[in-house]
Amino acid sequence: MLDTAVTHRPASLVDPFGRAITYVRVSVTDRCDFRCVYCMAEDMTFLPKKDVLSLEELDRLCSAFIDKGVRKLRLTGGEPLVRRNIMSLIRSLSRHLDSGALEELTLTTNGSQLARFATELADAGVRRINVSVDTLDPVKFKEITRWGELDKVKAGIEAARAAGLKIKINAVALKDVNEFEIDDLIRWAHGDGMDLTLIETMPLGEIGTDRTDQYLPLSLVRSRLESKWTLEDIAYKTGGPARYVRVAETGGRLGLITPLTHNFCEGCNRVRVTCTGTLFMCLGQEDAADLRAPLRASEADDFLNAAIDEAISRKPKGHDFIIDRQHRKPAVGRHMSVTGG
Ligand code: SAM
Ligand code: SF4
Repeated sequence: MLDTAVTHRPASLVDPFGRAITYVRVSVTDRCDFRCVYCMAEDMTFLPKKDVLSLEELDRLCSAFIDKGVRKLRLTGGEPLVRRNIMSLIRSLSRHLDSGALEELTLTTNGSQLARFATELADAGVRRINVSVDTLDPVKFKEITRWGELDKVKAGIEAARAAGLKIKINAVALKDVNEFEIDDLIRWAHGDGMDLTLIETMPLGEIGTDRTDQYLPLSLVRSRLESKWTLEDIAYKTGGPARYVRVAETGGRLGLITPLTHNFCEGCNRVRVTCTGTLFMCLGQEDAADLRAPLRASEADDFLNAAIDEAISRKPKGHDFIIDRQHRKPAVGRHMSVTGG
């Protein structure tokens, strides 16, 4: 008899501009054990639990995207590692790594819980993680994160490295705060074999302060760095918006994410889903699709699949971020901790 089994090739998600969507970032919680000044107000009101997707719903949602050809999944938040039982979701999702459907399962974390979870993450097939560290000065670290402790995060990074995880450090460039510490961050990260990515502040959500005070253009940072270091443009891409250079003196990679001074939209291969199941087709646009209703409407995934397809057909060409002194309001009202960084 003829073997009718066909190798499963996922139908790819292609947007109206011909970009295949292969990368999804999913926020698994809006909660966090830090209150970084550029991200949250100190007295944040978090979402009621019933609005947040359950771990089972998150699993179905991620799996639906993977069935549609998504190859890279990043869990974020809020702080993903403070979500109760998060490891059960990560272990469950790792079946897609075993099957080969998923190339990479990763997360962005503030590192506070890493010492606890590093080994389990490695055992579940996580290979690389991003850890956010904006300063190496413990006092400033407390000022920026309000509730964080640098020592704990450093211990978490050590544990993750010992478990064999590759680490990329993310640092938000902040005027007057870590502005003159970037050299130290490069020495530290590259000295330990970690890539470093600098991020410009993005106008996402009200944070109770004026963002024009925080904004430090990376074009300025880069020109200052170039007076001390040899920066070589390289073609390295991670599927993200970062442009990479190699620092000749350290041999390490430095990424620059400049959503405000450059346009990174042409090659965009990603979408984001909030912890309430809202799919944002673009980080800088309000247009969104609700995936929670179709998830909850049926145990089968037909509604969910249709909603994803319909949303991708509306993915916009690009964003229109703006931080300016006249408007002073965020271009996009939601916080990064809701959309996921
Ligand atoms: N809690 C985790 C963390 O801090 O890594 C994951 C979520 S956090 C929202 C993801 C990344 O977004 C972090 O690197 C953080 O520094 C960055 N971020 C948060 N708010 C931002 C903003 N308004 N502009 C630029 N980056 C921001
Ligand atoms: Fe929490 Fe990350 Fe936002 Fe800081 S940047 S408050 S660690 S979600």
